[in-house]
Amino acid sequence: MPQDPALGICSDFLAGQISSPAEMEASLQWEPSCYDRSSVGATMRKLILFVFFFLAFSTTIVSAQQFDLVLEGGRVMDPETGLDAVRNVGILDGKIVRISSDALSGRRVIQASGLVVAPGFIDLHQHGQEMESQRVKALDGVTTALELEIGAPDVAQFLKAKEGRSLIHYGTSASHAAARALVFGTPIPEAEILP
Ligand SMILES: [Zn+2]
Repeated sequence: MPQDPALGICSDFLAGQISSPAEMEASLQWEPSCYDRSSVGATMRKLILFVFFFLAFSTTIVSAQQFDLVLEGGRVMDPETGLDAVRNVGILDGKIVRISSDALSGRRVIQASGLVVAPGFIDLHQHGQEMESQRVKALDGVTTALELEIGAPDVAQFLKAKEGRSLIHYGTSASHAAARALVFGTPIPEAEILP
């Protein structure tokens, strides 16, 4: 609290004791003597004007931004936000940083008119895990293909074989069938487990 009650809200604010609108409101209720409506109103108007120009300037900067890649005019479907509309997508450093109906500038632009732009699909039942199967999956919009039905006899070996040699995300469950065959003394070779 201020030493001099006559200074009221002003000294509180200057001393850094008021840091939020709620605190200021509380202070005003207790010490109305320092509350000069005209000066506060003028300050607020200046602040609003400043915020307005700041936002306008920021928008100009964002509009002028150049992206690494722009997906132009696709039907953007985003399950997280429920968005389903024709939009332009700006990608920078491998990340989506802007989704907009405004025109976006990109070093590379892909025309996506008539196409759906959506997060990559996850396939939970994908036996073929070699490059060619992955290539076809990618063309279908699948970016993660998991072998969760038959599984792999040796998960560690599966993962080691795929490391650095995969077009899309991959994964597998441990093979129940292979585990049973191993227990009965007739292990199934890796290459023979897939149908
Ligand atoms: Zn299957």
